[in-house]
Amino acid sequence: MSFDVVVVGAGPAGLCFVRSLAGSGLRIALVERQEESMLADPADDGREIAITHHSRKLLCELGLWQRLPEQEIGTLRDAMVLNGNAYPGLVFRHDEAGKSQLGWLVSNHAIRRAAYAEVAEMTEVRRITGMGVSAVSNDGDGAHVSLDDGEVLHASLVVAADSRFSHLRRAAGIPAAMHDFGKLMLVCRMTHERTHDQVAWEWFDFGQTLALLPLHDPHTSSVVLTLPPQQMQALLSLDDAAFEADMARRFQQRLGRMAVAGPRCSYPLVGVYARRFVAERFAVIGDAAVGMHPVTAHGFNFGLLGLEVLARELRAARAAGQAIDAPALLQRYQREHRRATYPLYLATQLLASLYTDDRRPARLVRGLALAAGTRLRPLRHLIMAELTRADERPAPPLARALLALRQSLVPSR
Ligand SMILES: Cc1cc2nc3c(=O)[nH]c(=O)nc-3n(C[C@H](O)[C@H](O)[C@H](O)COP(=O)(O)OP(=O)(O)OC[C@H]3O[C@@H](n4cnc5c(N)ncnc54)[C@H](O)[C@@H]3O)c2cc1C
Repeated sequence: MSFDVVVVGAGPAGLCFVRSLAGSGLRIALVERQEESMLADPADDGREIAITHHSRKLLCELGLWQRLPEQEIGTLRDAMVLNGNAYPGLVFRHDEAGKSQLGWLVSNHAIRRAAYAEVAEMTEVRRITGMGVSAVSNDGDGAHVSLDDGEVLHASLVVAADSRFSHLRRAAGIPAAMHDFGKLMLVCRMTHERTHDQVAWEWFDFGQTLALLPLHDPHTSSVVLTLPPQQMQALLSLDDAAFEADMARRFQQRLGRMAVAGPRCSYPLVGVYARRFVAERFAVIGDAAVGMHPVTAHGFNFGLLGLEVLARELRAARAAGQAIDAPALLQRYQREHRRATYPLYLATQLLASLYTDDRRPARLVRGLALAAGTRLRPLRHLIMAELTRADERPAPPLARALLALRQSLVPSR
């Protein structure tokens, strides 16, 4: 069968991209390995996604936000960064940003459920689920996508949203820079005795990194812990009572007693940046383009940013009767999305390396960085403006500042 666009992967990025093409007149196929029932009602994967102001605006435009039940939306009023035992650390306050809150927290599975419900109503989309893609190829007639059952789909453009370990990216001959941090990240919803006051914590402690993400209920948060794999395995093997006591100890009893309220899920920490986002009749979006370390909570936010640009380009080309696979169109997407993401990707890699390094020099540098952030209001304001702006343009001054910081700390090879 022939389509204008074949999208591979119905994760949050693939689904939102398809939804953003609604009404464009393009004929779309969406291929996903998971069964339809899993897409309609995805399992809780423990991830709570911090949503920026711009992402929320986009999710509203796509009709997803309206589908999220109120009790599934957490308010991220302020954020606090702690280094070792120093308390309260560097605080980013909503009022300094001139907003009522810094952002929102929504479960990954709730986003997936809402996005699927929207896509399921699109009559121009053929959903092919419970089916993987085994190969992609390209010739004078267009792009060809081979499914595991032998069917071949023909398209003008193939868009891969098949995760940071994307097979399609490799099949298209696009290399990617990958950095394995050698650590695992545990996420688990927990209730706690004291209220979270809608404040997120990022706590770079010695030998562990902890985060607390405030959810809708004032006594429930998502707890995020980064550890080397062996220590993580030991923690995962504890029963609930021992796990709860261990987590309360790690948080130095600052939240009082803690109890498990969701599944314990762990993820390997691997940062990925595709060297190119496009090839002939081919584009990567979502984590397949930029797979962020979760510490700066930008993976899905960047995914939305990229798919917004590509969808805008495709819609404009279709409306003008132009080819949707034109190399110049794809290059514009690549250029804009790289400009928006690369500085923060680099800065995040640096931050993640610096804050998980317990050697004396690293501890000293991060102590100095937090002290500077606490004293320098303009720096804090710049970072908050980046978090809370509602338009999609990159913030060049911050991007330049982050790049300069990286270059001064990491000698180029
Ligand atoms: C612990 C954790 C916390 C996070 N917190 C945040 C946060 O606070 N803010 C934020 O913005 N981001 C956050 N992220 C990142 C965010 O979760 C990801 O960026 C986002 O889920 C990526 O979506 P995706 O659709 O690109 O990829 P995925 O979610 O990986 O989906 C890929 C899909 O493709 C399918 N697929 C793969 N291969 C094939 C194939 N060959 N054929 C057919 N289908 C295929 C898979 O089955 C899957 O459904 C976090 C991530 C983690 C791990």
